[in-house]
Amino acid sequence: MYDTPQALLQSIFGYQHFRGQQAQIIDHLIAGGDAMVLMPTGGGKSLCYQIPALLRQGMGVVISPLIALMQDQVVALQQLGIQAQALHSAMDWQTQQHVEQQAMNGELQLLYVSPERLLTSRCLDMLKATQLSLIAIDEAHCVSQWGHDFRPEYLQLDSLQELFPQVPRVALTATADGPTQAEMIKRLHLQGAEQFISSFDRPNIRYRILQKQQGKQQLLRFIQTQHQDNAGIVYCGSRNKVDELAQWLSQQGVPALPYHAGMSAEHRNQNQTRFLQEDGLVMVATIAFGMGIDKPNVRFVAHVDLPKSIEAYYQETGRAGRDGLAADAWMIYGLQDVVWLRQRLMESDMDEAIKRSEQGKLDAMLGLCEVTSCRRQSLLAYFGENLAEPCGNCDNCIEPVATFDGTEVARKALSCVYRSGQRYGVSHLVDVLLGKPTDKVKHAGHDQLSTFAIGQELDQKQWRSVFRQLLAQGLVVSDPANFGGLRLMPKCRPLLKGEASLQLRLDRKVSSKSGSKQRQPVAVQDLGLWQALRDQRMTLAQEQGVPPYVIFSDATLLAMIEAKPQSLVQMNHVPGVGEKKLDRYGDTFLAVIAEHQST
Ligand code: ADP
Ligand code: ZN
Repeated sequence: MYDTPQALLQSIFGYQHFRGQQAQIIDHLIAGGDAMVLMPTGGGKSLCYQIPALLRQGMGVVISPLIALMQDQVVALQQLGIQAQALHSAMDWQTQQHVEQQAMNGELQLLYVSPERLLTSRCLDMLKATQLSLIAIDEAHCVSQWGHDFRPEYLQLDSLQELFPQVPRVALTATADGPTQAEMIKRLHLQGAEQFISSFDRPNIRYRILQKQQGKQQLLRFIQTQHQDNAGIVYCGSRNKVDELAQWLSQQGVPALPYHAGMSAEHRNQNQTRFLQEDGLVMVATIAFGMGIDKPNVRFVAHVDLPKSIEAYYQETGRAGRDGLAADAWMIYGLQDVVWLRQRLMESDMDEAIKRSEQGKLDAMLGLCEVTSCRRQSLLAYFGENLAEPCGNCDNCIEPVATFDGTEVARKALSCVYRSGQRYGVSHLVDVLLGKPTDKVKHAGHDQLSTFAIGQELDQKQWRSVFRQLLAQGLVVSDPANFGGLRLMPKCRPLLKGEASLQLRLDRKVSSKSGSKQRQPVAVQDLGLWQALRDQRMTLAQEQGVPPYVIFSDATLLAMIEAKPQSLVQMNHVPGVGEKKLDRYGDTFLAVIAEHQST
């Protein structure tokens, strides 16, 4: 019916141009080649296999690790008028049989299937009796045993090459780290595949990392001032904290739901479905939440505890702004985070080699927190990418951080650790430096130390900041075997001997006003229309029992506001409005726009 990818992009999907490497990938697959696609979240991976599947003879098979993910994609494709179905264990038997029959009759263009289902002999027999256009392996990093998304069934996908030698295969992932990529190629037998590697930058995400002071209040202020009525995810380090924070936010008037592995599967699913289907909910969660969350209009991801690696941070923050519109990655972190994570690592009974590698990852994460230059440059450099200019869209770019020569104060802090016997925590050490004769100080005789009261040039907060930075840089450690008392590390020797100097960051005051305005996507005069379009979308979504974003994305609604189409022809030019959707929803949305223009 449509003979070129470009024609299909416009008519079915309603978009004018391919993005990034989409066109090359599509051409390569149509020509029958295998491919390995590494593209960041929101980069547009789905089109890369959907369009070739529609243009080649036969049915495309998409292997996907999560039922929710499959359902979402299938519903979105059906909205576009594409014959798509899924096969998985949560469907009743009759429906499964019906889908199998459709596949064998050649009535399906795309079939989504879980790996365990695919590998059953029943399914393989069915697929062998069907003409296949391609096989797509989504979330291909699930084959990596070292990642936290590992799925053992993915390992068996290595047999696909032998089973279907004529069918082009494409593996897709947003995982940026090198070792995982190498493992995917090896395990999925994709050595001969063409590799398409995109930049991992997410320019629409604004990175911010602030000092933690009154954590909960800071979070509340951030949401209330900048993300009122927006959907977002708040990551916490523990289940208890998730429960507590979700409840507290709700009490403060922010609609929030908890999600963690300690909840019943039913309760978890219920919360996940609500998050996907309703507008403006905040999900408070542990890292158990997020894989396969396809919701495109998550406007912020907040971390109130420090992730244990940059990989984890990048993956979690990547769930914001899939739709390409402005989004926030916001994190607060403080002295306690450093102490806690370092201690947990020291206490764990992991293999020494693994421990060292984890240590290195944590160091890199702490480095990102303390860096005073562009965060995006650091982040991308960690994944081996070079960003030539500072980004202009992170806190350090927007409001440059002052640094000071911290050599002298660092020496004072370190000698205070040394002279007090390397077994006291930060609070006590700060008391000694400030010359506070507390009971504990007097009892230990530390008012007699040469370092007593030598640090009156800084206040308590500033000293804590110095200690945090010394800990983050690994010049001292907090020893769990000694109740968290600080101990000097060999790395601090040059500094103590006067052979090295040290620059420290001057922490910002928390009341900083930078970016504290709501980042509205629409002009004030259009707010009414924006709300009306969203309401209309929600009504349609509820009638059909589908998530609102499969009707139209936020980006499409915003484009409608910008264009204010007055006819179906004009509506057809709005990005994201393809033929089918024009047909089904064009008039309804034109009416909403017309109503708001006359008032
Ligand atoms: P990924 O799977 O890589 O995270 P998706 O395939 O879900 O990304 O695409 C992200 C969003 O970008 C979707 O809303 C999709 O419709 C949109 N999109 C993809 N390709 C294009 C394009 N060429 N032009 C406009 N929007 C696009
Ligand atoms: Zn920057």
